[in-house]
Amino acid sequence: MDRRNIELKIFGLIASMAAGMILLAGVALTVATRHADVRERQYEQTLVGNGLRQRGKEVQTALNPYVIWDEAIIKLDNQYDPAWASQNIGASLGGALGYKVVFVLDADGKPIYGHLNGKDVAPEAYARYAAPTGRLVDAIRKIETNPKKVAELRAVHTSRVELIGDEPVLITVSLIRPDLKAKTRGARAPLLVTGVPVANSVIKTFSERFLLHDAHIEVVKPDAIRTDAGQAVMGKAADGRRVVLRWTPRRPGEELMKSASPMLALAVLAAAVGSFLLFRVTRRAAKKLLLSEAEAKHLALHDPLTGLANRTLFTDRLIHAHALLRRKPGHLGVLCIDLDRFKEVNDSYGHDAGDQLIREVARRLVGICRETDTICRLGGDEFAIIQPDTTPSGAATLAQRVVDGLSGEVDLSIGRAELSCSVGVAVVSDAEQGQAELLRQADVALYRAKEAGRGRFTFFEPEMDAALRLRKGLERDLRAALESEALNVAYQPLTDVRGAMIGVEALARWTHPERGEISPAIFIPLAESCGLIGLVGAAVFRRACYDSLRWSGLEVSVNVSAIQLSSPGFVDEMVATLAETGARADVFMLEITETALLKDSDGVHEALRRLKRLGFRLALDDFGTGYASLSYLRRHPIDKLKIDRSFVSSLPGNTESMAVASAIVSLAKSLGLKTTAEGVETRGQFDALVKLGCSEFQGFLLGRPMPADAIAGVREAAKVR
Ligand code: C2E
Ligand code: CA
Ligand code: CA
Repeated sequence: MDRRNIELKIFGLIASMAAGMILLAGVALTVATRHADVRERQYEQTLVGNGLRQRGKEVQTALNPYVIWDEAIIKLDNQYDPAWASQNIGASLGGALGYKVVFVLDADGKPIYGHLNGKDVAPEAYARYAAPTGRLVDAIRKIETNPKKVAELRAVHTSRVELIGDEPVLITVSLIRPDLKAKTRGARAPLLVTGVPVANSVIKTFSERFLLHDAHIEVVKPDAIRTDAGQAVMGKAADGRRVVLRWTPRRPGEELMKSASPMLALAVLAAAVGSFLLFRVTRRAAKKLLLSEAEAKHLALHDPLTGLANRTLFTDRLIHAHALLRRKPGHLGVLCIDLDRFKEVNDSYGHDAGDQLIREVARRLVGICRETDTICRLGGDEFAIIQPDTTPSGAATLAQRVVDGLSGEVDLSIGRAELSCSVGVAVVSDAEQGQAELLRQADVALYRAKEAGRGRFTFFEPEMDAALRLRKGLERDLRAALESEALNVAYQPLTDVRGAMIGVEALARWTHPERGEISPAIFIPLAESCGLIGLVGAAVFRRACYDSLRWSGLEVSVNVSAIQLSSPGFVDEMVATLAETGARADVFMLEITETALLKDSDGVHEALRRLKRLGFRLALDDFGTGYASLSYLRRHPIDKLKIDRSFVSSLPGNTESMAVASAIVSLAKSLGLKTTAEGVETRGQFDALVKLGCSEFQGFLLGRPMPADAIAGVREAAKVR
């Protein structure tokens, strides 16, 4: 965990505490206001419910003078008088009191008088009202059969909001009773049916009384009854629909909230500022604390750059996994991973880019491995994986996935880098071998994988040990030889067609203190793979510079490895050596191989151009063995092709070699390049090459590599000849 993370954590803690407090206050306030709103609505609902009942009572009370009346019993029951009904019932109730619906039913429930919207109508018009009023009529008749109840009540009414058509109407059915001494003909009395539409205008006056906001009538299905809005059910239609009075309840809580919200915002701001200050104060103290605990612990066991396990944790896990083998038989795999040419990325793009690449590799490895595997960065560009509970083929699968996963181009902020890696694998099935030995074996296998050409994985085999020890020893000795300037340089003559020496090739020579002469064919690749080639090349070039001062008119060839050419400081180093020794660039022919051009990076191209501008000339060595391509020759400023020894050695008998040599010579001619045939050992080869048009020759026939001191003598002898 890095410092930023910890600070974020502290800040998060304080911020979440503050946020929590604000949230709590907010929730409390919301609950309180919600509560207040609910209370207000319930209060309004009760009020409206009472109001509606009150309104019903008012309607009923207004009817009392008409339904508790001896004359009504006489004129409507004893002897029905239609004129009386029209004058006293219709005109008064329908006209003056404004009842839209007025009917009189006789003792048998049959309509005998009707009055609608201010006009008398035929009693049959009651048909439309029969169904909705039926329930009310039944209720009244039921009361009527209970003499005790009737005696108790002065007036007998039932009221209800019913749907007439789609219009809600407050229907009241009243029992017509005597006020003094009149008597009905039979046991039953006539009934008065009145109706007032609960029109919105009526609601309006009603709502004004109760200060209801936006009150209106709705006819809704039962499931549309809402409990959150203000409403009162006024009636239930025969089809089950409800007639409801709805309004928008007042929300005192919400209003309070609204008026309080600026204050609330201020409080939030204050809390934010407060928590920020608190954060600043606590940060230092908390940082120390956390650093000493968690981070120190994490740092002790993890690589800070990638967050992967470090060597300590890795060793710990390896010991653990190894110990498990004793209890549970199986295989334990260890993979050592090394990025190919990571140093080049670091050297040419800088350390930031190197770090980026390492982080990307770590990210990919995490994606490739299982959770039970331990991935570790051992240091630099070396990684390792512990694969517990596996099989040899399981380890091979993982190794292949690592090789595949860590290949291809990687985008770095500064440019693109080619990624590839080598993997060494060691697998053990018993706990006999120590865990340290397992890691060593994986490391040996890794070395082999690199040697075998990189971008691959190799399993450890016991034979590898001996070869590796030899190699390691040689590497150490070469380093020592470079430090003590024990490397020598031999020069091999190059001649023209007549055999006159026109140049020499500088060849590195190393005499090992115990093993004697060691071939450059062995120590040059070794130097290339262990990063010493730059030192070897520089030593040879410096020697060649000094020696070149002794010879006039001799071209001096120096071999330059592909690795040198693509290393960023190479050209500057050459310039510095020229300056230091006083040698001239134009006597030198730098021999490069096709592999160097194959990289074809901008860096290589630019290095070649700079060398050309400095006066160096360039030869393509071992031509014909590599990926010889015309386009390379055109793109790069090459002066000479060196026909590889393998073609020369089979001349003149081998027709295929003749064809290749002939093709190279004519190609060179067409491009204006010189050709040197390498490894000329016989007169026959020489003559064949001369015939083909080759211009320069090098080989044991013309001169073996020799010390610098010997060159002048040989040159003289040739002149004399
Ligand atoms: P090269 O550049 O092709 O050098 C020519 C090699 O052919 C030399 O081997 C030389 O001794 C050998 N040779 C010359 N004439 C004949 C011949 O008639 N017959 C046979 N069989 N061989 C002949 P050497 O000195 O063993 O060098 C081997 C390779 O090591 C060189 O091949 C070159 O690639 C590399 N090398 C040598 N010195 C240096 C150096 O200073 N820097 C770099 N980068 N590479 C070097
Ligand atoms: Ca050469
Ligand atoms: Ca060569």
